[in-house]
Amino acid sequence: MICKCGYAYSKDWNKGFNDAYLVVKDADYEAFIQAEIAISQHHNKNSEKFVGLVAEAAAYTGSLRKCPMCHRYLLILPDNDKAFVLAREDE
Ligand SMILES: [Zn+2]
Repeated sequence: MICKCGYAYSKDWNKGFNDAYLVVKDADYEAFIQAEIAISQHHNKNSEKFVGLVAEAAAYTGSLRKCPMCHRYLLILPDNDKAFVLAREDE
C-alpha cells in the first residue's frame, strides 16, 4: 500500500507502527472478543490449534495507521483488505 505522498507501508510493515490502531466492526466485536479469550486460554502456543485461533481473531481486524511521512491516516478494513488513505488531522 502506497500513501498519497509516496510512502510505501509495506517497506516497514514488520517493524510495527507507533501510530497504529486495531479496527473491528461493531457487529463483530463480541465474536472478536470471544476469539481473543479463546487465545488467552490456550496454553500451547506452538500448536496448530493456537495458530488457528489467532487466524480466526485476526480475520475480524483491520487497522488505522498514520503515515510517518505526511501524517495522513490509512484505514485498512477487516475482511476484504481494502485500504483507503484518509485526510490528515489538520486537513
Ligand atoms: Zn504519506
